[in-house]
Amino acid sequence: APRTVLISGCSSGIGLELAVQLARDPRQRYQVVATMRDLGKKGTLEAAAGEALGQTLTVAQLDVCSDESVAQCLSCIQGEVDVLVNNAGVGLVGPLEGLSLAAMQNVFDTNFFGAVRLVKAVLPGMKRRRQGHIVVVSSVMGLQGVVFNEVYAASKFAMEGFFESLAVQLLQFNIFISLVEPGPVATEFEGKLLEQVSTAEFPGTDGDTLSYFRDLYLPASRELFHSVGQSPQDVAKVIVKVIGSARPPLRRQTNARYTPLTALKAMDPSGSLYVQTSHRLLFRWPRLLNLGLRCLACSCFRTPVWPR
Ligand code: NAD
Repeated sequence: APRTVLISGCSSGIGLELAVQLARDPRQRYQVVATMRDLGKKGTLEAAAGEALGQTLTVAQLDVCSDESVAQCLSCIQGEVDVLVNNAGVGLVGPLEGLSLAAMQNVFDTNFFGAVRLVKAVLPGMKRRRQGHIVVVSSVMGLQGVVFNEVYAASKFAMEGFFESLAVQLLQFNIFISLVEPGPVATEFEGKLLEQVSTAEFPGTDGDTLSYFRDLYLPASRELFHSVGQSPQDVAKVIVKVIGSARPPLRRQTNARYTPLTALKAMDPSGSLYVQTSHRLLFRWPRLLNLGLRCLACSCFRTPVWPR
């Protein structure tokens, strides 16, 4: 029988792509419940799903920040959830001094507590049946901090710690956990976010910090998305593989071109190598950052090209 896959945040980006790819599985291994907070936005998903709609894909309302919405959604699902994909998430970028506590709490409510809420809801059923797979769309920012992304990274670190801890217990119940860690993904959302923050005020932030953010970070970030960014389709493909594997991995990065950056942390347990390299790339050699990233993008990282 096909496995029932529940995915959060399917109105756009990675969630939408994943829902469509799973629903169109040539071997029809999945029955996809593609959920979104606002059903008014289901048009794009439905168009992309095509013939799968109503067959291997159904659309349902789900706000990961609401107990009632989660209960309502699960009560409408026929049978049990075999695979849960925690994909819904929000970003937050900018100088800390200019961000409200409410905005920060919203990031944790959505990214962290949203995932925890869903897990609590499906876990009793999975444990009873002694089977299940919980997939979490984390980020490379769940593995290492990134300048001006403190709160977003913290929410993804929280997910990494939570799910790694839970994985130990759940192995005893034959339930697998997989943290998928994309690097930059060129979704509409990222473009809009960077656009918005470039004109935002960030009240209470000093001039130096503002200029580091606007004149160094934002151009570097745009360049990063441009040079090593993946498409949501590519990320979804990796997640499809993870879901289809008999022994799913606990962690899976999706972007080989970004791994040299994540390796910096693994190479030096003191943390200095990663923090100092990131600092130098942003504050000392911003031109080199772009050059280095272009090298990453064309896979010539091992033979860096120096400026002539
Ligand atoms: P996206 O904005 O297109 O998708 C996020 C989805 O979550 C949206 O459809 C949004 O409506 C939904 N969402 C937000 N709050 C919700 C709530 N309370 N209830 C239900 N749904 C809600 O962006 P995306 O890039 O596809 O993001 C998907 C996941 O991938 C997120 O968890 C994000 O943190 C992660 N991620 C993104 C990137 C990137 O560069 N875009 C990189 C690494 C990880």
